[in-house]
Amino acid sequence: MRIVMLGAPGAGKGTQATKISKKFGIPHISTGDILRSEINKGTEMGLKAKEYVESGKLVPDELIIDIIEDFIKDDSIKEGFIMDGFPRNIAQAKKFIKMIDKNDLSLDKVVNIVVDYDEVIKRLGSRRICVQCRKITSIDESQDGRCPECGGKLVKREDDREEVIRERLNVYEEQTRPLIEYYKNRGILVNIQGNGTEEEVTERILNNL
Ligand code: AMP
Repeated sequence: MRIVMLGAPGAGKGTQATKISKKFGIPHISTGDILRSEINKGTEMGLKAKEYVESGKLVPDELIIDIIEDFIKDDSIKEGFIMDGFPRNIAQAKKFIKMIDKNDLSLDKVVNIVVDYDEVIKRLGSRRICVQCRKITSIDESQDGRCPECGGKLVKREDDREEVIRERLNVYEEQTRPLIEYYKNRGILVNIQGNGTEEEVTERILNNL
């Protein structure tokens, strides 16, 4: 099963990708997680990406394509993968098609999670990430400010500040949203309503795979 998750920031792509990856035993690749980890480690890639990520802009395509190229060649994706945060624009999508064609693969489904912007702004404002187990949660679900799953410390992402959220939504509108039409024309897009509980959304996705 080879899946791409689409949707605005805060639509729930990461949360749902984690669940589906566990359910099917396939790797979950989040380009945002990779970039944040490189930034934290202070690597060359992290230094190149930092300014873009923290201001809500897309990092240059070449940087992301290098990451994906390595991943596509890896043995771990034999049974499939779930892509979260890539592709982010039409140029990346076209490069991706070439890459997977070259490796005799194809995409099965592109899952587009649909949520309205008021909901997204609300969710991102209260979103927290566990530094220990990486669980994505919200401040309302935390237990005394700690992760409800492992008790780890919760942090707010640098780009979950209100002014950066607005920029990320602009970038989504201009560059990422056109991918919906792109994949619809290829006959592999499914639209999933992202409202309701996490479990309800997972159920809707599983019914459409
Ligand atoms: P995310 O965790 O998917 O919301 O991504 C966080 C940030 O990482 C984005 O706002 C971009 O700065 C950067 N990023 C992640 N994926 C990509 C991508 N495919 N292309 C360009 N920039 C990306």
